[in-house]
Amino acid sequence: MKTKIINISTVCTWSPEEDKLLTLPKVEILVEDSTIIQISKTVGDAEEEIDADGALITPGFVDSHTHPIFSGNRANEFGMRVSGKSYEEIAERGGGIISSINAVRNASEDQLFEECLERVNFFLVHGTTTIEAKSGYGLTVEDELKSLRVIKRLNEASPLDIIPTFMGAHDFPPEFKNDHQGYVRLICEEMIPAVAEENLAEFCDVFCENGYFTLDDSRKILETAKECGLIPRLHADEFADSGAAGLSAEVGAISADHLMAVSDEGIQKMAENGVIATLLPGTTLFLGKTKYAPGRKMIDSGCDVALATDFNPGSCTIQSMPHIISLANLYCGLSIEEAFKGATWNGAKAIKREKQLGAIAEGFQADMLFWELGSIEEIPYWMGSDRILNVMKAGKLLE
Ligand SMILES: [Zn+2]
Repeated sequence: MKTKIINISTVCTWSPEEDKLLTLPKVEILVEDSTIIQISKTVGDAEEEIDADGALITPGFVDSHTHPIFSGNRANEFGMRVSGKSYEEIAERGGGIISSINAVRNASEDQLFEECLERVNFFLVHGTTTIEAKSGYGLTVEDELKSLRVIKRLNEASPLDIIPTFMGAHDFPPEFKNDHQGYVRLICEEMIPAVAEENLAEFCDVFCENGYFTLDDSRKILETAKECGLIPRLHADEFADSGAAGLSAEVGAISADHLMAVSDEGIQKMAENGVIATLLPGTTLFLGKTKYAPGRKMIDSGCDVALATDFNPGSCTIQSMPHIISLANLYCGLSIEEAFKGATWNGAKAIKREKQLGAIAEGFQADMLFWELGSIEEIPYWMGSDRILNVMKAGKLLE
């Protein structure tokens, strides 16, 4: 079925063809089923017409880094933190990632699915039409597979597109606290082959950081993942420069994420090897820290920069990409155009969907936001009040 969108004030999108921002005033868009087939001053006939009522139209946001598969929440921990409790005191009271690990292990697949479905649909409210979603709070073969099966079911049940990443290397579970190599073996010898066998993930992510997975651990895990057909990505140089950005270039990762402490050398290696730098400024804000990733330097060095929320129960509960755009503008040195590109087009590249998502172009999936705004400058400007009138996902308006 064909649908024509009329009465659009402006379409604003990154152009995959011309590789620049396009601002198209007074155009119409023709959609056939889930695909954009024409963008023009006047488009061909359609069975159905949508009156945009003077809205600005942009692509739906692509959030290329989230951890939504958890149970319960850690608001109590946030409360302890803001009342001055130390990380150690919070851990003593059962806070930290261990509480999420226990909760996921104790939840049945159906419980986890129901809870996560409600949660992921909040992304749509803020204009995100695609997310990447990681496992990583199970940390046993069965609980990681359960988390990834939940992601698969969510993708089928929600209008959102949800792209799965296996992240058994999120942290060391308590039973392997004193046997890190044992856990790396479990990941490589059992988890990754099982995930690949069930075809449950496209990507494999590792938390490569001093005190977590070392460079050698991370290399071993990501090389094993590649052998099993998974594409590597990394949590890199968040707290300290551990050389993880360089490793991302070495293993051919699609993206290295966080990068608050990345070295100039690491940035250079990423730029030379086409590794996308994904900034997660919501995490810095949520943790009450002041050291944001040097986005300006990355772009000036030739990196493609994507923006994402890092939505997770411990270090960032933000689900709004407009909020992330505001932070990237204020603290990472990105222009409005660069941040918009990072939240749409480069986000799609970071999950290998740049042929169908992240832009309004002929042949692309019809994922579009209808805004009560005059221009994209207003997206970060009206902080905390996403002025979205309507969301179209795969050609369907979500009411
Ligand atoms: Zn993360």
